Amino acid sequence: MLISIENKVCSCCKESKTVDQFRKAANNKKDGLFNFCIPCQDTYNRDLYQRKKDKRKKQVELWNLEHHEETKIYKINSYYKKIGKKPPKRKKINPIPDAPYIPPELNF
Ligand SMILES: [Zn+2]
Repeated sequence: MLISIENKVCSCCKESKTVDQFRKAANNKKDGLFNFCIPCQDTYNRDLYQRKKDKRKKQVELWNLEHHEETKIYKINSYYKKIGKKPPKRKKINPIPDAPYIPPELNF
């Protein structure tokens, strides 16, 4: 149930703005809108991205290292799907502990 309101006060800049200045929130908030107005939300997200950029980059690199084999299989399968052929059957390879990382451009 949405409560119909005309104006809402932004929690960031403390200004009263019309509801079309707020994005709709997917969760079950009372009015179905975010607490930050659109310009404040954009600024907040931009700052957050800048602050977390390096950490996130490291996380992505780590994930790519850990899921190297899965990613490779996925890429091969999607290539064959794109050209409309069945991918060749692969032998099951037992994972070798501490296997050295081979970049995908050298491994194909
Ligand atoms: Zn605001």
